[in-house]
Amino acid sequence: MDHFNITDGAMHAEQVPLSAIAEAVGTPVYVYSTATIERHARVFREAVTGCGNGAPLVAFAVKANPNGAVLATLARCGFGADVVSEGELLRALHAGMEPGKIVFSGVGKTAAEMARALDAGIGQFNLESEPEAEMLSAVAAAKGVTAPVAYRINPDVDAGTHAKISTGKSENKFGIPYDTAIAAYARVRALPGLSVRGVAVHIGSQLTDLAPLAAAFDRVGQLIAALRADGHTIVTADLGGGLGVPYDPALPAPPTPDAYGAMVRQATAGWDVRLMFEPGRLIVANAGVLLTQVIRVKPGATNPFVIVDAAMNDLLRPSLYDAWHDIRAVSPRDARMTANVVGPVCESGDTFAMGREMGAVEAGDLIVFATAGAYGATMASTYNSRPLTPEVLVSGDRWAVVRERPPIEALIAQDRLPDWLEG
Ligand SMILES: *Cc1c(COP(=O)(O)O)cnc(C)c1O
Repeated sequence: MDHFNITDGAMHAEQVPLSAIAEAVGTPVYVYSTATIERHARVFREAVTGCGNGAPLVAFAVKANPNGAVLATLARCGFGADVVSEGELLRALHAGMEPGKIVFSGVGKTAAEMARALDAGIGQFNLESEPEAEMLSAVAAAKGVTAPVAYRINPDVDAGTHAKISTGKSENKFGIPYDTAIAAYARVRALPGLSVRGVAVHIGSQLTDLAPLAAAFDRVGQLIAALRADGHTIVTADLGGGLGVPYDPALPAPPTPDAYGAMVRQATAGWDVRLMFEPGRLIVANAGVLLTQVIRVKPGATNPFVIVDAAMNDLLRPSLYDAWHDIRAVSPRDARMTANVVGPVCESGDTFAMGREMGAVEAGDLIVFATAGAYGATMASTYNSRPLTPEVLVSGDRWAVVRERPPIEALIAQDRLPDWLEG
């Protein structure tokens, strides 16, 4: 459910006509809805309330949408943050997220990043290998502090999602192998500066079936029992993110947060831990659209090419994951068309949709790529010397630019000429 609806023949974000934003800010531009973000945050929290000991920690996966205004909105909803770099850590802190609600994930944390996170006093480090544990131990011991840690387990389950967003198979780079976990935890106990708190798992993104998650959680439950038998005090279990969202209205809808919550309640009964969750996509995907204008319609061999002013550098998902985004006209016409929708970048991969049945559009029309609030602006680049895509946040009848479109001159000004080319 989102708040992008057609009222009086024109699409609005909450109460703001998208045409007004396009006119003021230009296109392409990402537009986010506060009401949708808040609703998803509430629905997820309610779905997992009552699971585990006390109130679960919900840590938003910052990589899905790191915009400061989006993070500040979620901080007000009581969310923490799941971060995977120093940059994301600093953004989360800057947005007002409590350090104790921040979890640091990722396979390649550097010593400098670890030091920064220890200084900030974050809630938990999710370790992904024994060499990483040794590095964190050294960094923490040198500071005379203790780092709260969990190991991320690779449960070797197939998440049944796109290969590029599957993370829980043994051949993926993530986590430590389930079979070596007991030994790895035993060695961590001997390291100074580390305090084991729990177990973590995250098997992939855009999951449309609960069974792989249930299988992974089952292994986590077994591991918690085995670790306790081995003398560890386990007080947290981080169940990651990954729940899918509906992109293509023609496909069956993914499991609801309520169904997910019911599965979690059953899978974790008797664990006697505080649960943590790291949803990203579920919270923000439907809360954003990429608003773009049709530059021209070019005849094609089979279908016409609708050339829009957004491109793969603004929204990479179709080109990277073969992702499907619903394409909707801001002011729908009566006619329909079948079109290839493409951007201006000089790559055949700069294709949003092939042979798409959609409402007819003409040059100058505004359209949106729906469900673009997650893994959209955050993956944008300046390829083809296109400035980074600006972002707008709507709340009721108010809206604000929450990231400006940089002038092209700013892009050029970052380059430096070596002395042999000057003059
Ligand atoms: C990407 C990621 C998430 C969020 O995944 P979603 O599918 O967006 O919910 C959570 N945890 C970790 C460790 C991740 O890498």
